[in-house]
Amino acid sequence: MTRFAFFNGKIVPIEEAKVSVMTHALNYGTGCFGGIRGYWNRAHEQLYVFRMVDHYRRFLQSAKLLLMELDYSAEELVEITVDLLGREGWTQDCYIRPLAYKSTEGIGVRLHNLEDGLTIFSVPMGDYLPVDHGIRLGTSSWRRVDDTAIPARGKISGSYANSALIKTEAQFNGFDDALVLNQDGHVSEASAANFLMVRNGKLITTTISDNVLEGIVRSSVLQLAQEQLGLPVEERPIDRSEVYIADEAFLCGTGVQISPVISVDHRTIGNGEVGPVVTQIQKLFFDIVRGNDPAYGHWLTAVPQRELVMG
Ligand code: PMP
Repeated sequence: MTRFAFFNGKIVPIEEAKVSVMTHALNYGTGCFGGIRGYWNRAHEQLYVFRMVDHYRRFLQSAKLLLMELDYSAEELVEITVDLLGREGWTQDCYIRPLAYKSTEGIGVRLHNLEDGLTIFSVPMGDYLPVDHGIRLGTSSWRRVDDTAIPARGKISGSYANSALIKTEAQFNGFDDALVLNQDGHVSEASAANFLMVRNGKLITTTISDNVLEGIVRSSVLQLAQEQLGLPVEERPIDRSEVYIADEAFLCGTGVQISPVISVDHRTIGNGEVGPVVTQIQKLFFDIVRGNDPAYGHWLTAVPQRELVMG
C-alpha cells in the first residue's frame, strides 16, 4: 500500500500528508489534478510511466486556469515523481495523482489572495473499466460543464462533481459509463474519458472546443492511428444519432485506457463485437505503455527502483 507522498515540498510518510477541514479546496473545489499511469513490465523488471512530462504540462495549465503559482516546472515535477516512485518501489501497475490546491484555511470563495499547496501520491491500479470485452454507455441526462462555467480543458477538482453525477446516474441505470452531451446537444466525452468512433474507415473524435479534456491518450491515439494504421482522422462535432450508426466506438484515457464501446442507449455499435480498429489500437497502446515498442520509447520514463517491494 501507499507509503509516501510529496507534500509541502518534500517526500513524507503518507500519514503525515494531511490537510485541515478548513482547507479552501476541500470546501470550494478549488484544486486541480492529474492522473498518470505507471506500467510494470515483468520481463524488464521495470516500471514505465506514460507521457509524464505531457501530463505535468497539462497539470500546470490547469493550475494556471485557477490562478495558481506552483514553484515547479513540468520537468521538476517529473524528477520529484521519479524519486517518489523509486521509494514506493511498485512492482505492479500504478496510478500517480498530482494535486494542486488552494490551501488557505478559511471561508471566502475566490481564486486570488490564497496560498497554493501541492501534493503527489501514487496507488496500485488495475483496469478501471473492462478492456477485453466491450462496455455499454447510456446518454447522460446531465450535460457537460461548459467552458463558460468551469473550463473542461482543465482537470479542475470542482468540475468532477459533474463527472460524479454522470457516472453514478449511468451505473444506477445499469450502464458502465455515459455519453455526455454539451449544452448544444453535441457529444463531449464520457464521465472521465474521451470518446472516439470509427465510420467509413475514418477515426472521428470531438474537437477540443467541445468541452472535453485535452486528453493525453486521445492525442496519442490520433497520432498512432495516422502513423501506424494510416487511418484518416477527423476532429469535428458529433451528433448523438451519429454514434448509434458508428462502425466502432471506444473511450480512451489514462484510467479507462482503451475501452471498446459495444452499445449506446441500447443500440448495438457495429455488430456488437469489439471491432478491428479498436483491437489494433489497443494492441499498439498496450505494447507502448508497457515498454514493448521501442519506436515509442520516448513516451516513457523508466523509474529506477530504489528498493523492491512485492506488490
Ligand atoms: N476526460 C476527462 C473528463 C478525464 O477525467 C480524463 C482522464 N484524465 C480524460 C478525458 C482522459 O484524459 P487523459 O488521456 O489525459 O487521461
